Amino acid sequence: MSPEQSLLALVDSLQSHIGWLKETGHTGMPVIATEVPPVSPASGTKEKALLEIAYRMETTAVCPLQRTATRIVPGQGNPDADLMFIGEGPGADEDRVGMAFVGRAGQLLTKIVEAMGMTREEVWIGNIVKWRPPENRTPLPEEIEACMPYLREQIAVIDPRVIVCLGTTATKGLLDAQAGITRLRGTWLSFDGIDVMPTYHPAYLLRNPLGKRQVWEDMQSVLARLGRDVPPRKN
Ligand code: URA
Repeated sequence: MSPEQSLLALVDSLQSHIGWLKETGHTGMPVIATEVPPVSPASGTKEKALLEIAYRMETTAVCPLQRTATRIVPGQGNPDADLMFIGEGPGADEDRVGMAFVGRAGQLLTKIVEAMGMTREEVWIGNIVKWRPPENRTPLPEEIEACMPYLREQIAVIDPRVIVCLGTTATKGLLDAQAGITRLRGTWLSFDGIDVMPTYHPAYLLRNPLGKRQVWEDMQSVLARLGRDVPPRKN
């Protein structure tokens, strides 16, 4: 499915989900957080729970970045993924289409995922902050704080076996780690009992291609943890 088709599918499911919310008595938009009880995976599908979180982010989250961003980028992919990739925040391309990692860094992430023998549709891809920071600056602590509860909810619903944190902001945002990515990459950490592998951000790799070798080592560790074979390298 192309990014455009995925986006149309997302909009379609959001619209039908909003219809479902209305049918089940959740009228009076915009809702406030307490009006829509969190949907646990047990009471609906994971997909529905993720749509409900995206809907609540859109309608009730209070993040300063909403003032300058064009649209929300909630993250996308397989609701049942074993593997989640978490980046920093949307850039200009993501802000335009509402999907995470669709620009140049995203294309490199696609190559990394495919080198691991997987597709983007099999994994889940998202960010620490759900709106684009102006001029692509690093998100501020209060912006991260406003978005983190929703990422926590997304992780709880998907319940992956492994999370890959892409870059310093994702690693610090998720784990409250003090050290930078150069120190932390390649070492296993833990978030709510889920294994976390920090590695370099694809945007960093675009500027520093030599880091690709270390990222590939990290991804081999991830594959081992997932019990998957390392695919032979293509030339
Ligand atoms: N695109 C994203 O969605 N996240 C990043 O961190 C960078 C680019």
